[in-house]
Amino acid sequence: MTEQTILIVEDEENLLEALRYNLEHEGYRVVTATDGGKGLEAARETDPSLIILDIMLPTLDGFDICRLVRRTSDVPILMLTAKAEEVDKVVGLEIGADDYVVKPFSMRELLARVRAMLRRPRHSRGEASDTEVIRAGSLELDQTSHAVRLKGQHLDLKPREFDLLALLMANKGRAYTRHQILDRVWGQDYIGDTRTVDVHVRWLREKIEPDPGSPKMIVTIRGVGYKFQA
Ligand code: CA
Repeated sequence: MTEQTILIVEDEENLLEALRYNLEHEGYRVVTATDGGKGLEAARETDPSLIILDIMLPTLDGFDICRLVRRTSDVPILMLTAKAEEVDKVVGLEIGADDYVVKPFSMRELLARVRAMLRRPRHSRGEASDTEVIRAGSLELDQTSHAVRLKGQHLDLKPREFDLLALLMANKGRAYTRHQILDRVWGQDYIGDTRTVDVHVRWLREKIEPDPGSPKMIVTIRGVGYKFQA
């Protein structure tokens, strides 16, 4: 197995060193940057397997870096946030982060998140079995190219939205609980709560449903969770 590189962009030296120590101990190669500009540069130059990104940084903040990296890469991004308001932004602004932890966090929790994120298949890695195009009415999900089209128009989905839609569409009519969805889409080590699922369902509905307020495709099963109804 090739060594995986993790880029840490964090300006608190003590935290940065603690992260470096623990991640190296786990066998990862670690690259670090202490300001935003250098972090962005490192993200482009080192092609990391995962980025741990602080939000408040000198020169360029974590939100900007996340957006800029997302233009060209689907590398998993774990945001480190210091305040509740920042969590709202990470989740609400659709900046493209995959996960977040709130400071102060335990190193154990962070390592579990990192492992879970690295285990998820990256979207650029196509597999021979993923040749299927799943259709439901005018909605089309292409597992090979990771594209979703609605009435022939390409939809811009975030990686996790795609995975969630793929799970539901590949199992039309089957009801999933929020926990089952978390396990399958976010991974079993994911420590966040099931509201994450609700938020992603809401975003997906806004993109695929003619009337997101009264969804016809991703329907809520009261007391259970969600299913895709063709
Ligand atoms: Ca900081």
